Amino acid sequence: MSLEEIRSRIAGACAAAGRDEAAVTLIAVSKMQPEDRVRAVLDAGHRIFGENRVQEAATRWTPLREDYAGVELHIIGPLQTNKARQAMELAQAIHSLDRPKLATALARLAQEIGACPDLFIQVNTGEEPQKAGILPAESDAFVAEARALDLPVRGLMCIPPVDEEPALHFALLAKIAERNGLAGLSMGMSGDFETAIRLGATHVRVGSAIFGERD
Ligand SMILES: *Cc1c(COP(=O)(O)O)cnc(C)c1O
Repeated sequence: MSLEEIRSRIAGACAAAGRDEAAVTLIAVSKMQPEDRVRAVLDAGHRIFGENRVQEAATRWTPLREDYAGVELHIIGPLQTNKARQAMELAQAIHSLDRPKLATALARLAQEIGACPDLFIQVNTGEEPQKAGILPAESDAFVAEARALDLPVRGLMCIPPVDEEPALHFALLAKIAERNGLAGLSMGMSGDFETAIRLGATHVRVGSAIFGERD
């Protein structure tokens, strides 16, 4: 478990970029990790976790939340509309708002429930056909559409293509966020979170570098 090492690397990246460390939230991505590793990170005092799948998150975190107070969950994987209600009841943030149909479903549920998690719009910065997300050229219109639905859009999220320089994608995401007046930037994973911090990340999603490789 190297939570402390990741924290100190985040602090170093913030210092190098002249940024306040408090402006960067570390999301410990616990998907597919054995429970003892997750408990070790909880025991070390960390409370902000990311999960890909709603059902897996519910199964794991409903009991863990009885043992540990103050857990904040972020859904970071693709969200089916038929899981949207469960996601909203479970999580404090959803990073994968990636299509109009999901925006409409979340808006309807937010009305009904009277609350909504913080939302990040996923942008497919690499324009990869197999990857979820709004295309860069369509993102301004989609931000406006989500805002018109009264959704609490806090920022943008991206997952750069594996074989490309992530900095280019982080810079593009930051540019789209800035011109839309969005403060949140969910970007950076185990291999590139320091680069993401240099380019303005407010939320880094780090899994294997904290917990070890997934099974
Ligand atoms: C799995 C995952 C992460 C964490 O990846 P690591 O390389 O293990 O840090 C971050 N973001 C998303 C969307 C993921 O699916």
